[in-house]
Amino acid sequence: MRVIAISNQKGGVGKTTTTMNLGVGLAKACKKVLLIDCDPQGSLTESMGYSNPESLETTLSDLMQKVMENVEFDNNEGILHHEENVDFIPANIELSGMESILVNQKTILKEVIMKVGQTYDYVLIDCMPSLGMLTVNSLAAANSVLIPVQAHYLPAKGLEQLLSTIAKIRQEINPGLEILGILITMVDKRTKFSKEIIDLISVTYGSDINIFATEIPVSVKAAETSAEGISIYKYDKKGRAALAYSQLSEEVLSFE
Ligand code: ATP
Ligand code: MG
Repeated sequence: MRVIAISNQKGGVGKTTTTMNLGVGLAKACKKVLLIDCDPQGSLTESMGYSNPESLETTLSDLMQKVMENVEFDNNEGILHHEENVDFIPANIELSGMESILVNQKTILKEVIMKVGQTYDYVLIDCMPSLGMLTVNSLAAANSVLIPVQAHYLPAKGLEQLLSTIAKIRQEINPGLEILGILITMVDKRTKFSKEIIDLISVTYGSDINIFATEIPVSVKAAETSAEGISIYKYDKKGRAALAYSQLSEEVLSFE
């Protein structure tokens, strides 16, 4: 089982889109995949076709609650199945309560994954855009972190914060935590700016951190899929974003 946290505290960089489409990409390669929505916004849950996450009976926060209270639960409790062969644990606004309840508990999500995640090849965690306790729990539970960075803005400062959080998690609780790589998203090759950002990321971080060869292009179709409940491979099979996400899946598989 490999647990990958998809994380960047900056909002709107493509975390959720990447979690879903990397997850389905790995499933297409016959891997058994579990996706975890660890964001009270419930965007991944919506992307999976649940347009009203608030109506769900069992979500991640219930499982975390049970771990905290030492209440037994089944290995498949709360796990939903998506038609494209991935399983997932949904989230909704109830998860926001966890941020304050978790105080100093960093391994609750890890315990949930140890309970329900054992039979999977890959567990992908869609993190929320913050470095609060839910993200700390995600990083404590993960073997590696995939960091999507949007090619539109200078990401340098935000990345430093994330990297120092990762360093701290390594020191305190999860020494084996690796950085799988920086994934550059929403690339518009027509703009000079996009290219400048990519060069800057490569110069600043390239010697220490893997930067995925795959770049995710800016794509209206990719933006539309989230409302459709299906992956980019189904929504726009021949498009550039679908091709990019299948290349990314191959890159991730090549690390095995
Ligand atoms: P948040 O921090 O709010 O959780 P996020 O990092 O998970 O955001 P996404 O929700 O995946 O980011 O993407 C942000 C927005 O950009 C969404 O509306 C999404 O549909 C859109 N989007 C994602 N990928 C692309 C792309 N390759 N090209 C254009 N738009 C995209
Ligand atoms: Mg998101």
